[in-house]
Amino acid sequence: MNAETFPPIPFLDLKAQQARLGPQLRQRVDAVLAHAQFILGPEVAELEARLAAFCGATHCVTVSSGTDALQIAMMAEGIGRGDAVFLPAFTYTATAEVPLLLGATPVFVDVDPHTFQIDLASLESRIAEAKRAGILRPAAVIGVDLFGQPADWPGLCTIAAREGLFTLDDCAQSFGGALGGQRLGRAADATATSFFPSKPLGAYGDGGALFTESAERAALYRSLRTHGEGTTRYEVMRIGMNGRLDTMQAAILLAKLDIFEAEIARREAIAQIYDASLADIVTVPSRVPDSQSAWAVYAILFPNTDLRERAKNALQAASIGHAIYYPRALHQQPAYAGCHDGTALPIAENLGGRILALPIHPDLTDAQASRVAAVLRAALG
Ligand SMILES: *Cc1c(COP(=O)(O)O)cnc(C)c1O
Repeated sequence: MNAETFPPIPFLDLKAQQARLGPQLRQRVDAVLAHAQFILGPEVAELEARLAAFCGATHCVTVSSGTDALQIAMMAEGIGRGDAVFLPAFTYTATAEVPLLLGATPVFVDVDPHTFQIDLASLESRIAEAKRAGILRPAAVIGVDLFGQPADWPGLCTIAAREGLFTLDDCAQSFGGALGGQRLGRAADATATSFFPSKPLGAYGDGGALFTESAERAALYRSLRTHGEGTTRYEVMRIGMNGRLDTMQAAILLAKLDIFEAEIARREAIAQIYDASLADIVTVPSRVPDSQSAWAVYAILFPNTDLRERAKNALQAASIGHAIYYPRALHQQPAYAGCHDGTALPIAENLGGRILALPIHPDLTDAQASRVAAVLRAALG
């Protein structure tokens, strides 16, 4: 059959989701327009309570983006010049950008070849190297829950406890995911997530949140997101930032939270269709044991770049959305070349040429998922 007889399959379909959300979305937005408390209106506190309950965390502080969540968490620990912050080399730039902006040094760690999560053996050797060099103080480890799956938090926390490191969960892609039957949000000292529109729980603009079990940290996060304010409005206790979540975005997220669990279930069902129809021709995602993915990304691996390009071109020709997360490891990006010590990180360096992400949004139908698989099979067959 001719590919042109099929309508395009978008990578993400926020308009279809909007239709599914129904009148609740408009009611939420209208309520904000009516009370006109656009900054820290009542929806912000309501959302914080709902998000904390959703993931089982004690404290939730919403902020202006996932990047700002990372920044506020690190500012609260006083991380800066002379500090080493260990983080995976295969992640989005924000994870490494923030420590660098604060004057700290990102130390890139290799990732697991199957789950793409931070590799504990590589972390151990990077910590040992930093201690031997004696220039930087090992201060923190940022575990990224990549593509919707959790990092190895029990393993990371054991190493961090021994080395006295602050643990920060970059959960930007994985809010709604779980490890050991516990939703992500309390696996580390602090958890940062993002509500960028394409994340599993996305707003209609930028947004983010921090989760912690520590009342002291939560209070600091609240202060830091409003210019370091004290208990009264114009008391300035510390240098902070303008890092609040808009009331309008909180209202939208409240409407979306009502359907979020069902959306994760739908993403899981699509992942299973892809698994069943592609596992014999490409490497389908390895599941982190005892976990539930939030399925931000369904990424397949090809044996080499030529085959990946062949598959990518076939998807392109069939108007099927696709993406490459990430074409290069961070330490290979021009912006980070100057802060990397030259250590080879072979797995992270190899993935960019072989990886390809397929559409996995909750409005994708079974038939569309099967068609994506059929186009790939035809291209590789
Ligand atoms: C999206 C993302 C961020 C940044 O979130 P923003 O809300 O876009 O600032 C940070 N880390 C990772 C791993 C991400 O995917």
